[in-house]
This record gives sequence, structure tokens and C-alpha cells, in this order.
Amino acid sequence: MDPQPEPVSYICGDCGMENTLKPGDVIQCRECGYRILYKKRTRRSKGFLFASISQILFFMIDICYLGLSL
Ligand SMILES: [Zn+2]
Repeated sequence: MDPQPEPVSYICGDCGMENTLKPGDVIQCRECGYRILYKKRTRRSKGFLFASISQILFFMIDICYLGLSL
């Protein structure tokens, strides 16, 4: 019973560096320290608009998550 959280790839909103974070990690770019990271989408979505909305939703979730972890 050893939970292995899957790392999630994020793209830095400033320098574009890919950051791989595990749940519980501080959401912050390791390269430049920027604190807004976009969740990298591994699957290609049919609808670009839908993908954009999903990105924004994930972004908002990340902001909430960041607020809680402070
Ligand atoms: Zn960065």
C-alpha cells in the first residue's frame, strides 16, 4: 500500500520550460521561478475550443491548489 502519485507535466507560463510535478509539490517553475504553470495535455482533443476551456479550468484548479498550499 504505497501510493505512487503520477507526475504531471506542466509548461511554465513564462519561459515555457517543462516541469514535472508530483501532487503536493509546489507549483513553481524550476527554471525561472514563475508560479503559473499550465498543465501539459498529452491527448489531442478534437475541439480546440474545448481544449482551451479545459486548460483554463485546470489553470483555475491549479490556482486554488496553489492558494491552499501557501
Ligand atoms: Zn519558467
